[in-house]
Amino acid sequence: MTEHTEIAMHAGRRLRVDCPHCGSHMKVRTSKTHLPDYRELYLNCTNEFACGFRCKASLGIIETIVPSYHPNPHVNIKFGAWLKRQIRLEAEGQMRLGLEHQTKKEPHHERRTH
Ligand SMILES: [Zn+2]
Repeated sequence: MTEHTEIAMHAGRRLRVDCPHCGSHMKVRTSKTHLPDYRELYLNCTNEFACGFRCKASLGIIETIVPSYHPNPHVNIKFGAWLKRQIRLEAEGQMRLGLEHQTKKEPHHERRTH
């Protein structure tokens, strides 16, 4: 019971879910984890007496924005579009750098400078 209250307080500070019926905020009563990127939450409306709505919700991690410095090899969360573009740009940048090094070695490129 105490454990559940702690989870509720901890989650409540970071994640606010409003009751779809009365608009009061909902407390996380308990949460279950079956997978590292998916969590089930049991929510209770804090407007207990006038509303009393309770529900089950899910929280899924759907996209990587910044990859972990300490990645779990069993977790595979797809990269977001922004991250994919950054990786592509970085790869292209490295290719350009590589080509620049090559051109410096070739003497006929120096003659071609305008
Ligand atoms: Zn409510």
